[in-house]
Amino acid sequence: MTYEYHEPTTLEEALALLAEHGDEATLLAGGTSFVLLSKLGLLRPGHVIGLRRVPELRGIRAESGGLWIGAHTTHAEVERSADVRSGHDVLADAFSAVATVRIRNQATVGGNLAHADPAQDPPPALMALGATAHISTQHGEEREVSMDDFFVDYFTTDLAADEILVGVSVPPMTEDAVATYMKFLPRTADDYATVSVAAVVRQDADGVIAEAALALGGVASTPFRAATVERAIIGSTPTPQLIEEVSHLIVDEINPLDDVRGSAGYKRSMAVVWLSRALSEVTGNGSP
Ligand SMILES: Cc1cc2nc3c(=O)[nH]c(=O)nc-3n(C[C@H](O)[C@H](O)[C@H](O)COP(=O)(O)OP(=O)(O)OC[C@H]3O[C@@H](n4cnc5c(N)ncnc54)[C@H](O)[C@@H]3O)c2cc1C
Repeated sequence: MTYEYHEPTTLEEALALLAEHGDEATLLAGGTSFVLLSKLGLLRPGHVIGLRRVPELRGIRAESGGLWIGAHTTHAEVERSADVRSGHDVLADAFSAVATVRIRNQATVGGNLAHADPAQDPPPALMALGATAHISTQHGEEREVSMDDFFVDYFTTDLAADEILVGVSVPPMTEDAVATYMKFLPRTADDYATVSVAAVVRQDADGVIAEAALALGGVASTPFRAATVERAIIGSTPTPQLIEEVSHLIVDEINPLDDVRGSAGYKRSMAVVWLSRALSEVTGNGSP
């Protein structure tokens, strides 16, 4: 494959190159998905725009209890960041669940989100934490998209072809909230998830669930918030029996595919099991 390689040093320059080369252009971040897609012949760009020298896309900042994570931050940087670990441990856990050290040293937050494989690890955690994607447009503006609305279909996001994901912001975790990220991968330790669940739950002083954000990966065309289960559990006092009951509601919200990670039926059963485990952990109800 031959293409012209560009390496802009500002965001403005990167956007201008995207506008100039239109459908012929592809952004390149860590290159982990780019290389695979190119080898499969699914990507044949005439122009590749490398993002590694664009300073606006770099870095992690703690901001009033929340976080800013630049799109060109690697998975390993998120995983090891003291700022992330101090208030958003669950996010570091989700990034550390991706593939292998070699991939995590190379792959970036922006590349992960833009690639949009529904079985990726960071998206459910970012959704459950209420994160927002910040996107630079050709009009010199930045638009914001809730992580809940960012994923549109298999390998498809809300990003337009001439836009660049600049970073994600993550609000502070609510005080007393408990969070977990669980990844079920029955084949090998470096595989994509068969089913994954992120849960952030806050109980009031009487043990009643006051807030619940639950997101799943691997069982639909996009990662998604389990709204029906959230509504069913908020206002309740969790017991192993209640958790078992509400976890079964997920079956009507998912639409998994048969693939090498399991049949659709198996994934439906595993979604119930892993949602139930996640809820048990964050509510301190032991294993059902
Ligand atoms: C062997 C292997 C195993 C993997 N296992 C897992 C796993 O277990 N869990 C998991 O979550 N993921 C897994 N992945 C996916 C991996 O997380 C993604 O490949 C990676 O996150 C992509 O990041 P990148 O920086 O390498 O992106 P690139 O490959 O450089 O780019 C990917 C896509 O994103 C676009 N893009 C990049 N940056 C931006 C931006 N700032 N704005 C707009 N578009 C942009 C590119 O144009 C391209 O279309 C695996 C990948 C491999 C190769």
